[in-house]
Amino acid sequence: MATPEQYQDIRDAVTKLCAQFPGEYWQGLEKEGDYPTDFVRALTESGYLSILIPEEYGGAGLPLSVACAVLEEIQRSGCNAGACHAQMYTMGTLLRHGSEQQKLQYLPAIARGELRLQAFGVTEPGSGTDTTRIKTRARRDGPDGDYIVSGQKVFISRTEHSDLMILLVRTAEREDVARPTEGMSVLLVDMRTALGNGLTIRPIKTMMNHASTELFFDELRVPAANLIGEEGRGFSYIMDGMNAERILIAAECIGDARFFIEHASLYASEREVFGRPIGLNQGVQFPIARAHIQTEAADAIVKRAAGKFERGEPCGSDANMAKLLASEASWQAGDTCIQTFGGYGFATEYNIERKFRETRLYQVAPISTNLILSHVATHDLGLPKSF
Ligand SMILES: Cc1cc2nc3c(=O)[nH]c(=O)nc-3n(C[C@H](O)[C@H](O)[C@H](O)COP(=O)(O)OP(=O)(O)OC[C@H]3O[C@@H](n4cnc5c(N)ncnc54)[C@H](O)[C@@H]3O)c2cc1C
Repeated sequence: MATPEQYQDIRDAVTKLCAQFPGEYWQGLEKEGDYPTDFVRALTESGYLSILIPEEYGGAGLPLSVACAVLEEIQRSGCNAGACHAQMYTMGTLLRHGSEQQKLQYLPAIARGELRLQAFGVTEPGSGTDTTRIKTRARRDGPDGDYIVSGQKVFISRTEHSDLMILLVRTAEREDVARPTEGMSVLLVDMRTALGNGLTIRPIKTMMNHASTELFFDELRVPAANLIGEEGRGFSYIMDGMNAERILIAAECIGDARFFIEHASLYASEREVFGRPIGLNQGVQFPIARAHIQTEAADAIVKRAAGKFERGEPCGSDANMAKLLASEASWQAGDTCIQTFGGYGFATEYNIERKFRETRLYQVAPISTNLILSHVATHDLGLPKSF
């Protein structure tokens, strides 16, 4: 199996593409609250967003490590993959649990860039981290057994820039099933027909430009043919996509951390105060070195997790640990970078404060640090489960 370092040609190509989207591009988008349409189009046309789609469905069929390398380089270049990373892992739900007909209908079109599968609707205001308490309900109706969806989702990213959405709903009440994880189902919602016909989207402003939205479902009709897998098994389908998601997000964090470390190192070497580069002071250089060491350690676990995933070995704990370590490493590196830049770290034109805000997300979403600690405590260490 190839090591991630062997993807240097892909890394170089991604870096070259990202150079067309410098800091001013992202600053401009943020000012207007716009989506990086041109950036996402460039990634799509270059085939990067479909690298995990198997060749028989029109993708490149490459392993997870390559996707990690792509996301890492995007972040390292100062760009933000948050605008489009979901397509890499949301399509996994369709790939693993969709029918052959669904896969043939959607995956090649996604690979060609004709369809965007960027939206993934799980979180609800009343459920938060406890997904088993989602209330968005789908009931069957009519001779074809269409689903009629009512409810609400919150913090769902990119819904205004996606043609399709993977949506988790309850098809049986929590009280009526043997276990709370049962009775949920995954529907593939066509956003193009849903909008205005039972689906309303309300943008949510956040501290970074992330295209976050709130969704309101009022008797939205979804064809029965859009059920993915078996009714009632949706929770397990969503869960088994989580490892890939965590590893990919961890790779993004590694890229963020490298962005901060590289910028801090360069700035510390060039900025002169008291007649000499600030980087000559160990009080400035040691935190940068520490951030680098933490990033290398986190990266080793990200690669270990990706390797296990690719070999089909259990990797839940490694994926979780990778995400925790990498998100903390990127935050630490960001904090160090701001400190190194002094006042300039806060100035928009340097892009440090933007990346600092962007990388903070990953300690909360797609899963918060506490929930990872809980997973490791109970699964790996045998400690009692607190919920
Ligand atoms: C910018 C952004 C984009 C997002 N995109 C999406 C998306 O595309 N799709 C989607 O479905 N969701 C998305 N989310 C939602 C995200 O996954 C959730 O915010 C996250 O899972 C946490 O849920 P919550 O916000 O309801 O926090 P809560 O569940 O209310 O938790 C709040 C805090 O309490 C802690 N906590 C809760 N329970 C426990 C416990 N038992 N033990 C210890 N600590 C606990 C949590 O760790 C957290 O720190 C996004 C969120 C943001 C901010």
